[in-house]
Amino acid sequence: MYLSSLISEEKKTPRGIPIDDIETVPAEELLPRHFRHGYPTVKMITRRYAGNLTELPNDITYADLCDAVLSLPDGKALVIHQMPFWDKSQVFRSPKKVVGSIRLNTPQRFRRLGKEMNLNTSSMSINQAKQSQILPYTVIENATLDFEEDYRGIGWWGPTKHMHRTVFWDALVEGFKYYELFGDRIKLRHQNIDPSYTAESLSRAEREYEITLHPVPSTLEDGWFFIEWLDMRGKCGCEDSSFREKGATRKPESVSERWHEYHKYTGGEVIFCRHLVAMYKEAVEYSRSHKDAKNILLDPFPEPTGILNPWWTLKNRVIVVDERDGKKYRRVLDKTELDVLLGRTTAYDGLDRMWLYPEPDPALNAYLQRSAGK
Ligand SMILES: [Zn+2]
Repeated sequence: MYLSSLISEEKKTPRGIPIDDIETVPAEELLPRHFRHGYPTVKMITRRYAGNLTELPNDITYADLCDAVLSLPDGKALVIHQMPFWDKSQVFRSPKKVVGSIRLNTPQRFRRLGKEMNLNTSSMSINQAKQSQILPYTVIENATLDFEEDYRGIGWWGPTKHMHRTVFWDALVEGFKYYELFGDRIKLRHQNIDPSYTAESLSRAEREYEITLHPVPSTLEDGWFFIEWLDMRGKCGCEDSSFREKGATRKPESVSERWHEYHKYTGGEVIFCRHLVAMYKEAVEYSRSHKDAKNILLDPFPEPTGILNPWWTLKNRVIVVDERDGKKYRRVLDKTELDVLLGRTTAYDGLDRMWLYPEPDPALNAYLQRSAGK
């Protein structure tokens, strides 16, 4: 079974930390028990790790912080101080027509407009996408990330409308876990060219999200496949969609110096939330086991492997000491901080240790081999 092999892989990672109770609890039970979509409270962490909180110095480097996250022993939790990224917010007077002042580079702002690890550029044309045969795993295989930079996730541009897509690191982890552990809560409505599913909300009882994807990469003819995955759009009504940057209606003749920061993605942005990631995994599985389904040739989302432990640690075993207006208070990391630190940890430990790419559909492999042989 995949989960057990994943765990034994984990144990081999020299700097990885074995998950709590790993020796005594079977993998099938371990992950559902450890999967909590929500964030713990400071009280929950303090109670669980009473006497085992390690406070890191407030001038710690990012390299040391990544190391501490990767090597935190079982039964311990970290207390960290705000890192420079969180202090960057700056208040400035907004352009005339907007009332009041705006804070840029706040965590919320960053989650909307921050950097990501982009797989292509906005200038990639349809022909270039076909010629370069761009596939996510081949780009990531050759990529290096700088752990001094803040990356909130993976992104790419669709060459047809030059619209940007982002999938946050935590959505990749949580979408995969949703699919693995609660796949039965994702229900197929139809799977044709635009697969459509419903997914139960894990945080709000009796709530369902309707989720659709279009187009799915399934056409090998004339290399259209390479454009289809880049052009994919998805819809879900969960809170992650509120992080979407809306397209600018028109560019004013003279723009303020902040204009580009307000409207980073002039064509709007697609956010792949955890439900879309989970649904995609489900749709791939369905398409490969049902003859009547449209065949989906590639899963662009990597599977979390080494990233599982840092994700778990940062979400459930870290308390932040926040200092504001001369007062100190304790809190857990927010989603922006979690994503940035997951990006840094990924950069620090290496992309190949954090993620695994699933096997593409055999039909796609055959196509790639044929085209390589030409
Ligand atoms: Zn969603």
